[in-house]
Amino acid sequence: MAFTRIKGTQDFLDLSLYNFFIKKAKDHMRLYHFSEIATPLIEPVELFQRSLGEQSDIISKEMFLIASGENKEEHICLRPEGTAPAVRAFIENNIQQTPWKVFLYGPMFRYERPQKGRYRQFQQFSMEVIGSAAIAQDAQFIKMLERLFHETLHFNNFTIDLNFLGCLDDRIVYRDVLYQFLTSPKAADICETCKVRREKNIMRVFDCKSPVCQEIYKNAPYIADHLCSDCASEWQELQDELDLLSVSFSYRPSLVRGLDYYSKTVFEFSSGLLGAQNAFCGGGRYDMLAKELGAKEDQPSIGAAIGIERLLLLLEIMKDHLPIEQEPALHLIIPLGAEQKKLGLLLADELQAQGLVADILLEGASVKSMMREANKMGAAYCLLLGEDEQKTGTITVKNMVTGAQESVAQIDVVSYLKK
Ligand code: ATP
Ligand code: MG
Repeated sequence: MAFTRIKGTQDFLDLSLYNFFIKKAKDHMRLYHFSEIATPLIEPVELFQRSLGEQSDIISKEMFLIASGENKEEHICLRPEGTAPAVRAFIENNIQQTPWKVFLYGPMFRYERPQKGRYRQFQQFSMEVIGSAAIAQDAQFIKMLERLFHETLHFNNFTIDLNFLGCLDDRIVYRDVLYQFLTSPKAADICETCKVRREKNIMRVFDCKSPVCQEIYKNAPYIADHLCSDCASEWQELQDELDLLSVSFSYRPSLVRGLDYYSKTVFEFSSGLLGAQNAFCGGGRYDMLAKELGAKEDQPSIGAAIGIERLLLLLEIMKDHLPIEQEPALHLIIPLGAEQKKLGLLLADELQAQGLVADILLEGASVKSMMREANKMGAAYCLLLGEDEQKTGTITVKNMVTGAQESVAQIDVVSYLKK
């Protein structure tokens, strides 16, 4: 029986774009004074129940749960996102120096319906600024992301959607305003799902895909119009500072994002090139989360996560224009007979020890078939070792691009190739 991958997972057989992105993103984060952390792939389930909210998509239907221990008493899950673990690490490691600017990346797990740009195991690159209330931090944070995508990765086909969700008090007030609208005759035709959302997680109605609902919500009251005076001035400040930093964005009043922990600033980067799953980065401010997770003091924070698979789809589209590092030249040693194998092994070992990429062909019926193999492998140089070469202490070096062939003394071959 042959095995197949678990649904919604992928094998990556060529990591060149992935590695390109990770390197660029890490360098970029260092430029903004972030340091790298790594947290476990497994975490207590309660960490996410507390932070994301019981009504969020992730908790209500997407968690990968593991029950362990003799009596299955330990409730562990595969992490669905990176923010709650970063905040947990901040609290657990008793970090005193704030703002704590960190990034982490790696696999996340959500039990979703797999489709293009949506997997059950996927990768995020997420970054957090923990312990800073200044809204200017948000402007700088969004600028940092915009520069990563625009200047470092050369994307020009994306938009930034922005909304401001206010503080906890604003949301309590706004919930009533929205509830009144949703129970009024104007909203009589909303779908059944939205009627459930109205009762359980009211702001999520704006995520509805139904065109009928979307038409109705065009006339809904929006939270950004119901902010307290402090929040209203922060919302204005954010827009002014983004203008100052030359970041183009669109105000999208229906952008609420799916997780309970967001407050104030929320944003999403999306690209029309991606089709239905068009958001490749999303984030926002989460001022209440640290206390929710047990911190003694408030730690107002902002964070974002990049969906790496979706980002790679974008990089794939424009990969011919990217400065992706070429693979170093392959030197392929070809012993022409069984008697030359040992000498071939020694030569390969010498090249590798000297930092040259080398491989050796250990099977092959004829010179012709071995040269064909060398071409398939993309060898830059073939190093042929036959009886004559063995006798004379030489090696025949064939340049696979020009076809030129030269006889070189075995003891000189490394310096010859390095030239
Ligand atoms: P979506 O609207 O696609 O469901 P989300 O709001 O659940 O996204 P976040 O939790 O904000 O997404 O995660 C940030 C980013 O991670 C998303 O913008 C997306 O690019 C990526 N992402 C989220 N879920 C998946 C998934 N199942 N497969 C691949 N990428 C994903
Ligand atoms: Mg989702």
